Amino acid sequence: MDDATIYAFATAPGRAGVALLRLSGPHAAAALRALAGRLPTPRRALVTRFSDPRNGELIDRGIALYFPAPHSLTGEDVAEIHVHGGRAVAAALLEALAAQPGLRLAEPGEFSRRAFLNGKLDLTEAEGIADLVAAETAAQRRQALRQMAGEAGRLYEGWRARLLRAQARVEAEIDFPDEGLPADLAAAVATQLSEIKGEITTFLADNHRGERLRDGLAIAVLGPPNAGKSSLVNALARRDVAITAATAGTTRDVIEVALDLAGFPVTLADTAGLRDSSDAIEEEGVRRARARAASADLKLVVVDATKPEEKNSLMAMIDSDAVVVANKMDLAPRDDAAWTDALGAAPAVKISVTTGTGMTTLEARLGTEIARRFGGESAPLITRARHRQALEVACAALGRYPRAGAAELAAEELRQAVRALGRITGRVGVEDLLDVVFREFCIGK
Ligand code: GDP
Repeated sequence: MDDATIYAFATAPGRAGVALLRLSGPHAAAALRALAGRLPTPRRALVTRFSDPRNGELIDRGIALYFPAPHSLTGEDVAEIHVHGGRAVAAALLEALAAQPGLRLAEPGEFSRRAFLNGKLDLTEAEGIADLVAAETAAQRRQALRQMAGEAGRLYEGWRARLLRAQARVEAEIDFPDEGLPADLAAAVATQLSEIKGEITTFLADNHRGERLRDGLAIAVLGPPNAGKSSLVNALARRDVAITAATAGTTRDVIEVALDLAGFPVTLADTAGLRDSSDAIEEEGVRRARARAASADLKLVVVDATKPEEKNSLMAMIDSDAVVVANKMDLAPRDDAAWTDALGAAPAVKISVTTGTGMTTLEARLGTEIARRFGGESAPLITRARHRQALEVACAALGRYPRAGAAELAAEELRQAVRALGRITGRVGVEDLLDVVFREFCIGK
């Protein structure tokens, strides 16, 4: 870590009521004093004038805050300057700071990086901050908050601490075979390790809920041509759009729209109509639609309530991951629509995109299905592939442990599991192992 003092606006550029600039590092206090004329009492807001120290010109009036190390965001001396959010104010402030000795602009993520290096955050908490800033739905915000508060980190650290204790015992046996360790110790360690492995395995079998919550649940919209799929996607998007406008998918015939449905992020994929075709291009579209359906978390099968003859081409699509929608109820005589009741296990939701009938019911139904797929929000979720990979590595090593044979080989499997878990939170190092050894065993004094 270099010891430069870094500074950057924490707020987005452009016009705003307030802009916040942060400084972190050994020169933060001197820089703030140079601009504000004096240093605020630690952690107390000071209303002050900020002037360019080179010529005394007033830049703006605002609030100054000072957080001396180590009780600060980064663990270093941190200064905060709150000014009015305007481009000229920001430019003048940045220019004045650039002229100060020992200061440079912060790189992306550098404040959090310093906080991590100073032990203020573990890696999962740092990732939680990134996720919170990126969160676009209520469920994403809740997940990010939990991770930021260290819930995931504590779980991983808990497993690692238990593994470290087991490792200390196994290694003590290798290093001090004559110390007379209890005979049943090996069996106790093996039992404990298989318990931990079981807990991690259960945790891994989460249907990728956490990753889905970050990336959005995939919903494929399927059905025959002209059933009203595009109209339905547009209607849902207009009512619920909270994330972004429609973006064209990778193919001409799959359009994706990101939405906030019932507080959860979803990606609706509007596919080509499903029907048997001799046209090569249409066939390709249908093939892609089927592929999308296969990989989707949920299928929204749209049928035209006035066309019972289309029923056959759809039946293969309808399973427990499908919500069937009978559209164009405004055109369907009561008898005509009756056929849709027989599609799949759950009754079809009868709607008319044109008149809006049934749309509220459909959204409620989708909300229930989506919430069920994200599951309860009690346990911290795996939010990143790197966490999952590390947990899998740890699990695999623990699985090999009982078959490792020689104590040295078994110990190496344990070491691998501990290292893998340590990589998730970023707390790796032999120091903790030494601590455990000396605290628990007091060998050799
Ligand atoms: P897609 O091929 O499945 O995407 O179907 P579209 O969304 O393009 O709709 C096909 C036609 O059906 C369009 O002319 C729509 O205006 C019409 N349509 C869609 N929904 C309804 C509805 O609820 N009632 C009526 N009467 N027409 C609808």
